[in-house]
Amino acid sequence: MQNQSESTLREQLLGEQLLKISQKLAELGLNKGASGNASVRCEDGFLVTPSGIGAEQMTPSSMVKMQFDGGFDLGKTPSSEWRFHRDILLNRPEVNAIIHTHSMFASTLSTLRRDMPAFHYMIALCGGDSIRCAQYALFGTQQLSDNALIALQGRKACLLANHGMIAVGETLEKALSITQEVETLCEQYLRALQVGEPHILSQQEMLEVQEKFKDYGAWAEKT
Ligand code: 13P
Ligand code: ZN
Repeated sequence: MQNQSESTLREQLLGEQLLKISQKLAELGLNKGASGNASVRCEDGFLVTPSGIGAEQMTPSSMVKMQFDGGFDLGKTPSSEWRFHRDILLNRPEVNAIIHTHSMFASTLSTLRRDMPAFHYMIALCGGDSIRCAQYALFGTQQLSDNALIALQGRKACLLANHGMIAVGETLEKALSITQEVETLCEQYLRALQVGEPHILSQQEMLEVQEKFKDYGAWAEKT
């Protein structure tokens, strides 16, 4: 059992990491203004970014500590999307970090409300042969969380219809890496759709990619 000061220190460090990732998302242009949010698991709950505040205005102490029953520090306002952050962390024990963006290409593609098929082998990075698009629901609702959880089954990312994307990972760095890859795939898919109908890799071809990824060192490390 860790003592109180050790766990407080760990939480402070996680708060600093969450701030760094939020700033990085803004720097990379993946989130603008108050769009998007992020969270990280801590010992007895999770830390989530505050609602309606851009990364440039956040400090480590802006991060909101939440319990899995929805409780949070008085005087703070957690992201309006705390429900999907909580529900993903509750249902996916291997996930410790979640990033949500309104990045340009993921958001644009999400308005088509279609799953992204295996048009490129890198789709396998997210754990399957497609990146699903969750059914539309109003932002900040339990329904959106329920829909996202379904779309994320066996996956590290999904689109949210008419909204953006969610990427998850074992660490914040890994979730960021998935976010960047998914945004690139969305851009490529949208560009291909402008010209014609992209060829889709077969189930067998995608299984081969997943197999090869297992001993493809750098990716195993990064995601
Ligand atoms: P928050 O500022 O409340 O996190 O909301 C941003 C967002 O992306 C809602 O979907
Ligand atoms: Zn959003």
